[in-house]
Amino acid sequence: MVSSSLPRLEAPSPAYICPYDQACSYLEEAAKELKLNQGFVEVLSHPRKVVTVSIPVKRDNGEVQVLAGHRVQHCDVLGPYKGGIRYHPAVTLREVSALAMLMTWKCALVGIPYGGAKGGIALDPKFYSVGELERITRRYTSELIKDIGPSIDIPAPDMGTSAREMAWMMDTYSVNVGHAVPGVVTGKPISVGGSRGREMATGRGTMFIVREALADKGESLVGARVAIQGFGNVGSAAALLLHEAGAKVIAVSTGSGGVFSEAGLDIPALKVYAANNRRSVVGFGQAIPISNAELLSLPCDVLIPAALENQITEDNVNQVQARIVAEAANGPVTLAANQALEARGVTVLPDILANAGGVVVSYLEWVQGLSYVFWDEERVNKELESLMVQAYRQVIQQSKIRQIPLRLAAYTLGVGRVAQALGDRGLYP
Ligand code: NAD
Repeated sequence: MVSSSLPRLEAPSPAYICPYDQACSYLEEAAKELKLNQGFVEVLSHPRKVVTVSIPVKRDNGEVQVLAGHRVQHCDVLGPYKGGIRYHPAVTLREVSALAMLMTWKCALVGIPYGGAKGGIALDPKFYSVGELERITRRYTSELIKDIGPSIDIPAPDMGTSAREMAWMMDTYSVNVGHAVPGVVTGKPISVGGSRGREMATGRGTMFIVREALADKGESLVGARVAIQGFGNVGSAAALLLHEAGAKVIAVSTGSGGVFSEAGLDIPALKVYAANNRRSVVGFGQAIPISNAELLSLPCDVLIPAALENQITEDNVNQVQARIVAEAANGPVTLAANQALEARGVTVLPDILANAGGVVVSYLEWVQGLSYVFWDEERVNKELESLMVQAYRQVIQQSKIRQIPLRLAAYTLGVGRVAQALGDRGLYP
């Protein structure tokens, strides 16, 4: 397997599912379907640049701690690198590398001129004060100062980061280069050049894709029973928009547990509750407590994993009762579980399609910033809908023409477009 050339910094446990090996398997499967030249596969199996930096931080109690921060740039044949920054204790170099590769196919699939990148720091933001998080973010940014920039690599929020961290990154970069550079990150606050609609964009994109998939089955969002794992940026936005569209969101969960209501949860009230309870939904009135494992196995029309990787695996896939699984998170369904779901006729809407709304509006934010013309939210949402629906239709068409499942169809489109550009550009020297 080509991926073995990547340094293995963590000691894998026996149950460890390597995200980078999984990402390479998807690439190899798409390459086989497309009968791609093996040389292209070799190039695309390796990230172009891998940066790991030490981030010394002075804790509020005076102790000094050194964290490891990564930024992986996978492939820039279509344009500047683009990808989120994740703060989570499970961050590893191999995970960040897998997510960077995924970004390359995602951008190509939705037709935006970016290459894939990803960054992350292994830390649990819960255990750091706002001041500590700011010092960590600023030091990480300054360590990467030569590797990022509006035409080089443009970070955005991911798990554990938000507009706040993007504002700190933008400020640190700008102070270091001597002038304001809003285009160095996306997902910024609107006050410093962020786009209207960006905060809800990933969840909104998921809602559009689920709506289209239901419509293809002759159904609608109205009354559809939906369960959502994760109630952060993506999960809570998807929950709210689906609720507003008439779906019955019967269960949601966070890292500390979930809640269930047969009649459907009051999502606006739940958002307020979570905001006042350290982002947890546990203890929300008029709902039954459930575990994350129970949420994944609920009978429902649509299951939306919107938290972490590897949540639906060989071990629990037989308990999944949903008819549609929409991957709002990156890589929530393992390779083996994906095959089992497809064999059972479950519609799996793959991550590179179902969660592409975030990068689409990041692109729209970048375009607005470069042109110094800012749009109202209605226009942003319309452009998002148009790009998402177009990508969905192309995936369905590819799936029908080639008689392949949706994930492989999405990958063949993304990988195929990047390979075409790679061939047209040629190899230097
Ligand atoms: P977030 O940090 O805002 O929220 C993550 C949510 O997952 C929280 O509710 C957290 O409690 C929950 N969670 C954490 N561990 C869990 C566990 N073990 N079981 C159940 N829930 C758990 O992150 P986010 O930005 O919403 O990102 C979620 C996923 O979506 C990630 O896979 C991310 O890569 C992907 N994604 C995010 C964006 C974006 O724009 N933020 C874009 C594309 C994809």
